[in-house]
Amino acid sequence: MQKGKIGVTTENIFPVIKKFLYSDNEIFLRELVSNAIDATQKIKTLSSFGDFKGTLGDLNVKVTVDKEAGTLTVSDHGIGMTADDIEKYINQIAFSGAEEFLAKYKDNANAIIGHFGLGFYSAFMVAKKVVIRTLSYKEGAEAVRWECDGSPEFTLEPDDRKTRGTDIILYIDDESKEFLEQARIDTLLKKYCRFLPVPVISGKEQEWKDGKMVDTDRDRVINNIEPQWTKKPAELTDKDYLDFYHELYPGQEDPLFWIHLNVDYPFTLTGILYFPKIKNNFEITKNRIQLYCNQVFVTDSVEGVVPEFMMLLQGVIDSPDIPLNVSRSYLQSDSAVKKISTYITKKVASRLEDLFKTDRAGFEKKWDDIKLFIVYGMLTDEKFCEAAMKFMLLKDTEGKYFTLDEYKVLVEANQTDKDGNIVYLYTTDPVAQYDFIKTANDRGYNVLVLDGQLDSHFVGLLENKLEKTTFVRVDSDVIDNLIRKDDRKAADLTPLQRDIMTTMFRSQTPEVDKAQFLVSFEAMAASDQPVVITQNEYMRRMKEMSALQPGMAFYGELPDSYNLVVNTEHPLVAGIKDKATEALEATVKPLADKVEADNAEISKLREAHKAGTDAESDQKVKDLEKEVADSLSLIHI
Ligand code: ADP
Repeated sequence: MQKGKIGVTTENIFPVIKKFLYSDNEIFLRELVSNAIDATQKIKTLSSFGDFKGTLGDLNVKVTVDKEAGTLTVSDHGIGMTADDIEKYINQIAFSGAEEFLAKYKDNANAIIGHFGLGFYSAFMVAKKVVIRTLSYKEGAEAVRWECDGSPEFTLEPDDRKTRGTDIILYIDDESKEFLEQARIDTLLKKYCRFLPVPVISGKEQEWKDGKMVDTDRDRVINNIEPQWTKKPAELTDKDYLDFYHELYPGQEDPLFWIHLNVDYPFTLTGILYFPKIKNNFEITKNRIQLYCNQVFVTDSVEGVVPEFMMLLQGVIDSPDIPLNVSRSYLQSDSAVKKISTYITKKVASRLEDLFKTDRAGFEKKWDDIKLFIVYGMLTDEKFCEAAMKFMLLKDTEGKYFTLDEYKVLVEANQTDKDGNIVYLYTTDPVAQYDFIKTANDRGYNVLVLDGQLDSHFVGLLENKLEKTTFVRVDSDVIDNLIRKDDRKAADLTPLQRDIMTTMFRSQTPEVDKAQFLVSFEAMAASDQPVVITQNEYMRRMKEMSALQPGMAFYGELPDSYNLVVNTEHPLVAGIKDKATEALEATVKPLADKVEADNAEISKLREAHKAGTDAESDQKVKDLEKEVADSLSLIHI
């Protein structure tokens, strides 16, 4: 990219402003009011340093709609401008690489405006003519009037203005008449100017009179000039924080708790983040964190500035150090932004740890509500995960909460399998899986509740982090297979009995779409259930994850696979086994004997073939194999 400074005339810039920025044209008001605020802050500063000795007077900024005249005026009593100032700050727009930049950011009005310092010129997005009437604070300054109709020509002449400050008068163009409606202006001021540090006046206070709301003659201040985040935490009560939350998000339930951010070095950032009670995703996207720059609202898309999982939070971040006017991809690679993001993560983690340490009971009470947030954070942010391992809680089926360390101590003795792995049992649905939970409890095992949206991912993460620990859902196998204490004896069935029983039990399983049942046999305790339906842990997890992740659709398509585990030691099953064997023995036995004999013959022929003593053995083997297959198919009917 070529670098340098060229004076670009308004000829180039106006069409660009109009064309590219039209969709976002409302930000002109933010730009003009911000300029008015800046000018006001400057005069205050000059005065406090003794560089301005006159009286400050009324410092309010005023936005006036005059529908008849077709004008919108932004007035301030700030430093004002001399003719020289206008020449320097308004007439000369200097920038580099204009064309290139415009092409690149043509869809991002904020970027263009910020880059060029075009704040003032954004007025031409909605105005056919702009007039500036201004009187500088400087001693002996003369008032001037600047006028421009959007063509490259402007006029600059003396004005009869007597008071210090500036009026920016916009002659609203025909396509932008909406900005002559007080209601529309109110909405914009509420959006962008709600927390500006200088009172902004627009319209009149209203009151109820003769059955309707009417204007009074009192000016209406639309902003709160001292929002809570600009104050010191020590000055604020819980009520202040809650009130501010409701000011930001009217009609919301109280938040669970909040974090006041306040840092001066190596960047400046203030703000308050709230943990909302998350009810549904819709709310989250609607009430997002708002980003401010010196109390000017900039955006509520904070991607890139805060870590992704923090998007679940609400509140305000104010920093002059975030390059707000650049594209997202730039934002993400910006090192200042990275530092900010890391800082916020650290701050949030340490606040959570604090809460956990100082008020464990309160923390447990909030846990179910903040769990989604913390789990999401742990899954997506390594640093946060590290910190959260200390305070994250596991909840069991009795509603007791444990830290990871506590839980390990609780189950280690009883739930370690023969290979030395600690097995954490969990349920995703305490009601539906009640029988399994009870069986586990009867063995003295504890069962965790992991029924959150992200828990299948979370289980994977914990298995990664915790040494020699596996998680299994309580219904994924029969209990003694979930935590194998010793090599258990296998079910005592002959191949024939196994065949018969498999056929029998399978014939009784229901036809369920997209589900398959596999019959297996286990020698459990005689007192255990005769039949248990389990779902393989691995396949189930794969399917659950595929539901949340693109690119894993393959697993989603697979049928649900269940195991119908038959307890061969149970008296009922033993009885069925004996009866079935008896009843089928008569028909099956001869066939089975034949299969056995045929198989023996096949082996013999194969041996002979290997030794080269029987040249015709190939065909014979084939014939016999067919016979065996036929016999077997009869057995299986
Ligand atoms: P930026 O605010 O980014 O510098 P603008 O185009 O909005 O760019 O304004 C250019 C300059 O014009 C400002 O820096 C300021 O010096 C001057 N200016 C604009 N509006 C006012 C105002 N209301 N009072 C005094 N000076 C102003």
